[in-house]
Amino acid sequence: TEKGTYYALHLGGTYFRILRVHLGGERSYLDVQDVERHPIPSHLMNSTSEVLFNFLAFSMERFIEKEGKESNSQGVKRELAFTFSFPVKHSSISSGVLIKWTKGFEISEMVGKDVAECLQGALNRRGLDIHVAALVNDTVGALSLGYYHDPDTVVAVVFGTGSNACYLERTDAIIKSQGLLTTSGSVVVNMEWGNFWSSHLPRTSYDIDLDAESSNPNDMGFEKIIAGLYLGDIVRRVILRMSQVSDIFGPTSPMLSELYVLRTNSVSAMHEDDTPELQEVARILKDLGVSEVPLKVRKLVVKICDVVTRRAGRLAAAGIAGILKKIGRDGSGGITSGRSRSEMRMQKRTVVAVEGGLYMNYTMFREYMEEALVEILGEEVSQYVVVKAMEDGSSIGSALLVASLQS
Ligand code: ADP
Ligand code: MG
Repeated sequence: TEKGTYYALHLGGTYFRILRVHLGGERSYLDVQDVERHPIPSHLMNSTSEVLFNFLAFSMERFIEKEGKESNSQGVKRELAFTFSFPVKHSSISSGVLIKWTKGFEISEMVGKDVAECLQGALNRRGLDIHVAALVNDTVGALSLGYYHDPDTVVAVVFGTGSNACYLERTDAIIKSQGLLTTSGSVVVNMEWGNFWSSHLPRTSYDIDLDAESSNPNDMGFEKIIAGLYLGDIVRRVILRMSQVSDIFGPTSPMLSELYVLRTNSVSAMHEDDTPELQEVARILKDLGVSEVPLKVRKLVVKICDVVTRRAGRLAAAGIAGILKKIGRDGSGGITSGRSRSEMRMQKRTVVAVEGGLYMNYTMFREYMEEALVEILGEEVSQYVVVKAMEDGSSIGSALLVASLQS
């Protein structure tokens, strides 16, 4: 039933997005009016919090300047959601301090600071009448949009530069917040699953080296095996090793030793190269200083992309199945005891909202993930589990949360 115009500013790992949504007061009137997506200038990732937030405020100002009259927001204070895809300790809906950076960001002085306050300060310094009404994790934004479209949505997962998930939990299942009262009896848990670790994770020497040479060693072990920032670099490391121990790639190209020189976009382009001569693979290898590789070797490179991405997709599916198991939606009746047998047999429809550039654009990743999810859950239970893509869900959903706060 909410009405009005709301904004979202989303700081991802690679991109930042600004958008405006208009709500007409009925479910069918969600109008996403303007979406801007830009790469985050790489120098900002290791600058200062002031430089970073001044840049975001500047971008917000430009966005507003080009608004037409149709935005209905002239002369009114604008309500903004700040979608922030890094670990935060929340103290209220609109405040929280940064716990640590991930995904290659390194602004150490920012750790422990209130990120919403930093953005509000930068907006104020530019004289913008914008109120940071909510600080939202990107997965929670995606869950919100999923829920808006379909109330069976209880899980949201992001596969972009990094990876994370959140889900709806029964309040009484959370031991550390006994007595926490919510009107719905449930609460959203942001898992920060990128930092999941288990000795059972199939970690290779490539993963160990990648971790050691990253900006956050011994951290985010799951993310480093499944997310977009890292898949390209794992593939690069395998090719480098093969080039060092054999002569199939000719003399070892010095470029192969450059961290992150092979992007996951290129991995999917090679993986999905359907030209008979694998011309795309040849072109990308050439860009890495590896030329004149025979077709047989190009096929081998496709195989490397396949192995790395298949592992990622399957582990991603295992993560989702783990959540479904925790909340009793995997057909087992849940970890919590005390359910009756009939309840256990009654399977509820469950929607998993998924977003992020890796999932949206890398078909093979998506297919491996969905295939493995069916494999883990079984054909029968899988019929009740719907995976739904939510393009820009994290930003749009965050704006919806701000709308719900206003009424
Ligand atoms: P952010 O993580 O900044 O929120 P996205 O969700 O759009 O942004 O994810 C961007 C990431 O998704 C890229 O860094 C890349 O790792 C991955 N990605 C985007 N396009 C592709 C593609 N065509 N193939 C494989 N990976 C892709
Ligand atoms: Mg994102």
